[in-house]
Amino acid sequence: MVIVGGGVIGCEFASLFAALGSRVTVVEAMGRLLPLPGVDEACVKTLHREMKKRGIRVLTSAGVESMEEAGGLCRVRIGASPFAAEAAAAPKHDGEAVEASCVLICVGRRANTDDLGLERIGLETDARGWIPADDRLQAAAEGVYAIGDALGPDRVMLAHVATAEGRIAAENALGGSLTMSYDVVPGAVFTSPEIGVVGLSETEALEAGLNARAETVLFRTLGKAQVLGELAGEAKIVFEGKTGRLLGAHLVGPGATDLVAETALALRMGCSVRDVADTIHAHPTLAEILQELSAKAAGRPFHA
Ligand SMILES: Cc1cc2nc3c(=O)[nH]c(=O)nc-3n(C[C@H](O)[C@H](O)[C@H](O)COP(=O)(O)OP(=O)(O)OC[C@H]3O[C@@H](n4cnc5c(N)ncnc54)[C@H](O)[C@@H]3O)c2cc1C
Repeated sequence: MVIVGGGVIGCEFASLFAALGSRVTVVEAMGRLLPLPGVDEACVKTLHREMKKRGIRVLTSAGVESMEEAGGLCRVRIGASPFAAEAAAAPKHDGEAVEASCVLICVGRRANTDDLGLERIGLETDARGWIPADDRLQAAAEGVYAIGDALGPDRVMLAHVATAEGRIAAENALGGSLTMSYDVVPGAVFTSPEIGVVGLSETEALEAGLNARAETVLFRTLGKAQVLGELAGEAKIVFEGKTGRLLGAHLVGPGATDLVAETALALRMGCSVRDVADTIHAHPTLAEILQELSAKAAGRPFHA
């Protein structure tokens, strides 16, 4: 199988099909997998390494030049990235052809609002077909609210965000006055190993001019990870150097998509690394990584 696009969906399907025995090649136009600013570089490096270990071939800064069918197979010719900057920075791909019985396109999403008759209620979409709405999720027509993917990529296109938006829109439609906040939105990537992220990455925090620091703890240091036999991965927290206030958490490893919930709550409540470090975590659990990590960030590691 050739998967075009090494974003969240491409990497998830690559992990899934490789686990089922398919030989998978991922072609990604950018210089790294999961090229999203909110996903920490270290998580991506670990994922890339683990995907390679599982036999998944990953071609970054690469594009698909052509595809042709022959003898029941699809011949996919690999070329330069379609993005000029990536193509210039990366070593040239030599036009190698990969033969696959299946090609999965995992790039881009577009609006599906053309034939809804929105114009009949006085609602205009933007140039790309997405539905504009204000902070209360009220759309441009009186009494009409919009939620979910139809709001477009300027918001966050995730199922749990759509659910949160739905609750706000319903309250407001019934006379409430709630505003939708996108400040703390956890993200889950169901790869092997999985990834859970929330808040700022280290790069984002530094680019925002914050006095940010980061600490990392490996999953292999946990008893529970040893028992599970799932040793690959690490957790990183980003925090304000002076106050210790949490800014973000980025985990790749066993249970990462569940563990991120604790840091989402801590971020939302404005907790510091001391707050998390002083919270007793049960042993042996994967959640201990957050306590160890926070203790390390607070300068008082238990085991380091
Ligand atoms: C492969 C894939 C994996 C994903 N994995 C995750 C994940 O792990 N976690 C996560 O949070 N998000 C994930 N997402 C994103 C998530 O699916 C969307 O953000 C979420 O479904 C958006 O909800 P929604 O209600 O806005 O739209 P949708 O879930 O797309 O619902 C819209 C519904 O409207 C229907 N519809 C369309 N046109 C009409 C019409 N004219 N009349 C009546 N009905 C119509 C559609 O059939 C559809 O059922 C994933 C997306 C994809 C594509």
